[in-house]
This record gives sequence, C-alpha cells and structure tokens, in this order.
Amino acid sequence: MIPNNKGLDTLRARGLRLTRPRRLILDVVRATDAHPTAAFVYRRVRRRLPRVSLATVHRNLRMLAAEGFLAERADEAGMRFDGNTGPHDHFTCLACGRIYDVPARAEAGVRRRLAARTGFEVLDHRTEYYGRCGACRRQGGRSPVTRQRRS
Ligand SMILES: [Zn+2]
Ligand SMILES: [Zn+2]
Repeated sequence: MIPNNKGLDTLRARGLRLTRPRRLILDVVRATDAHPTAAFVYRRVRRRLPRVSLATVHRNLRMLAAEGFLAERADEAGMRFDGNTGPHDHFTCLACGRIYDVPARAEAGVRRRLAARTGFEVLDHRTEYYGRCGACRRQGGRSPVTRQRRS
C-alpha cells in the first residue's frame, strides 16, 4: 500500500488530526478502485488495527468525504466511497457488480437543454452506465438481469 503523501499533507494543512485509523482508512480507499463500502474498508483496516470498530471506520469515512478527501455515492448496496475525487462517471457491471471509473461526459449542452426544458438551474450532472464489463463479456456468462434504474 503506497501512502498518498499529497493527501496527508493536505490533511495536515487543514488541521485535521491524523489519527492512525483515519490515515489507514484513507489509504485503503485510495489503494482500490473498487468503490468500497464501509464494511469492506473496515475489514481491510482491521487487519492492521484489530481493535478498530465499524462505527469508527464509518464515522471517519463520512468525515473524510465531507472534507473532500473521498467522494461518497449511494447505491442499492448502501454507501460507497471513492478515492478518486476528480470528475468522472461510473460504469456498473450488472454481471459482477463491479463499479468502474469512466471519463466524465463534458457536455454543457446536456445541462443547458434540461435547464431550458424544466426551468431548473442545473449546477452539475452525472451519467451512470450499466452493462457488462470486459471480463464478464470474455467469460461469456449469462446476460445480466435487466433492472430499472434511475440516475
Ligand atoms: Zn463484470
Ligand atoms: Zn469513481
């Protein structure tokens, strides 16, 4: 696991206490692109810090997300955390459940059209893709269950 020194420096600059759990939690989320749940992070952190509680991990995840060090996203599995805080969209594989980062669509026209149609002031938008990832396609497995989704 490679510590993200830039992130840690930023933490110090913001005057947050760099407790050991907090540093480990940040490392765990940033070391994976799997968009882990709190339970996943808890299991990883507990290997290094056996007495840490799920509540502590969860509280620190929320705090790190609130401070902008992590992104959080809600899906049907609950809250997931994302070490990639830059602009990007997500592709969810309906066969294996994995969530992949994909480049964000930089289409201001989408927002403008919606704003024109609804009268809303649109400040941001996200695109969610669903389908089958490359690994699952190569395995040629069953077709994913079609689900109704709203993004
Ligand atoms: Zn897949
Ligand atoms: Zn992501």
